[in-house]
Order: sequence, then C-alpha cells, then structure tokens
Amino acid sequence: MTDLHINDKGHYGADTSEGLTVEVQGDPKAIFFKEIVRASLTANVCSSCGFTEIFTAGNLDRLWVHYKRANR
Ligand SMILES: [Zn+2]
Repeated sequence: MTDLHINDKGHYGADTSEGLTVEVQGDPKAIFFKEIVRASLTANVCSSCGFTEIFTAGNLDRLWVHYKRANR
C-alpha cells in the first residue's frame, strides 16, 4: 500500500493514549466503503544506534481490502 495518510492526534489529543495511525480513506464517490480505516503505528528502536523501524499494527486484512476498494 502506498501514500497512506498518517494521522497525528498529538496536537489536540495529547491527553489520550492514541498515537500516530495510518489511515485509508474510502472513495468519496462510493456508495459503500466511505469510512476511514485506521491502524496504529508502533516503533522498534535499536538502543545502540537509534535505528528505528515503524510497523503498522491492527487489522491488516481489513486495511488491505479497504485500500483495494478505495484505489480501483
Ligand atoms: Zn543499532
């Protein structure tokens, strides 16, 4: 999946536990699948050099299905 929007709640939602998410926005012209599907981002950080990997956690199958339908 490419060009997914990263949603940052930090500015106005810093008091919540929700961090960064990626989201797939449905096709606004579609009758179905208009909803936004989100998944949380987590990071693995090397304590020696700081190398960081970002992973998406959540329902990847649902994200993929939504992505395919939104990017026909
Ligand atoms: Zn390292």
